[in-house]
Amino acid sequence: MAILKIARMGHPVLLQRCAPVEDPGAPEIRRLVADMMETMEDAPGVGLAAPQVHVPLRLFVFRIPGERASPDAEDTRVPNSVLINPTMELMGEERALGWEGCLSIPGLRAAVPRATRVRYRGVDCDGRPVEREVTGFHARVVQHEYDHLDGVLYTMRLTDFGLFGFNEELGRAAEAAQREAASANAGSAASAGAAPGAGTSGRAGPTGAEAAR
Ligand SMILES: [Zn+2]
Repeated sequence: MAILKIARMGHPVLLQRCAPVEDPGAPEIRRLVADMMETMEDAPGVGLAAPQVHVPLRLFVFRIPGERASPDAEDTRVPNSVLINPTMELMGEERALGWEGCLSIPGLRAAVPRATRVRYRGVDCDGRPVEREVTGFHARVVQHEYDHLDGVLYTMRLTDFGLFGFNEELGRAAEAAQREAASANAGSAASAGAAPGAGTSGRAGPTGAEAAR
C-alpha cells in the first residue's frame, strides 16, 4: 500500500468528468482503492475521490466516524467503504448548510448547501451492488465525493462566501462567539447564532483537517 499524492484546487484533473470503471474487480482497481483508503486515513479525511489522486475514474472511498454521525437511524458510523460507478439521487427538496473541507483545498472550509437525504447506488470491488438511502453527515459526504467525479468542487456550490474561510480563523471566531454567548448567558446572546464557526445545526463547526475530504 502507499500514500498517494493529492491534487490541489487548480489542477485540471479536478475539473473533468471522470470515466466509468470498466472492471471494478481488476487488480489495479483493488490496489488503487486500498491506497486511497490509506491516503484518506493518513490525511486524515472522511472521503477521497479518485480524481483527487490524479486518477480520473468514477470511484470514491469514504468513512463516517461515529462522532460525526447524527442521531438519525440513517446516519450511523460507517467503516472504510468504496463506491464504484455510483449514481446519486437527491431525495426531496430539503437543503441544509453544513461545514465542509476538502483534501484538495487544504486549510479552508465553508458552509455548503446540500440535500439532507440522498439515495445512492454503485458497486464495490467484488462487483456487489451497493444501495443506500442516507441522511445527515453521511448524505453530505457522499454528495461531496460524487461531485468530484463530475469535476465539481465545494467552492462551486457556495451560496454565501461570508461562510468560507481558513480553519484557524473560523475556529477562533467560533470560540470567541461561544465565550461571548456564555458570558451573556440568557437574554442578549443573539449574536452567537450568527458566528461563522457555528453550523446550522447549532453545533460548532468541525475543526482542523478532520472534516476534510
Ligand atoms: Zn473534496
